[in-house]
Amino acid sequence: MTMKVKTINGPLIENYHYENWLVYWKNHSGEPALYCSEYNCLCSGNLIGTHVKKMNRDNTNYIIPLCPVHHTKNQEIHVNDHTKFVALQEKDVLKLT
Ligand SMILES: [Zn+2]
Repeated sequence: MTMKVKTINGPLIENYHYENWLVYWKNHSGEPALYCSEYNCLCSGNLIGTHVKKMNRDNTNYIIPLCPVHHTKNQEIHVNDHTKFVALQEKDVLKLT
C-alpha cells in the first residue's frame, strides 16, 4: 500500500537549509534516513528533508526524506506506507524564523 502526497515549499522552508530538514526528520522520527520515501525509488544518497501534505487528509505540513528527483515541488507522489511522517511543529517553525 502507498499513500499519495504532494510536495510543497515556501519562503521559510527555502531559508532554512535542506540538510537541516533531514536532521529535523531524523531527530523527530528517531530513524536513520536510508532511502527515498517514494515507493518505487531506491535512491539512498543526497536525501532531502522535504515538506509534503497528505492528499485529502489534513492541512498539516509533514517532512519526509526524498531524493533530489522526488523533492521537486508541487509534485504528487506515492510514498511507502511505513514512511514516518514528521509533523512540522509550530514552535519549531518559530524557532527558525
Ligand atoms: Zn526518489
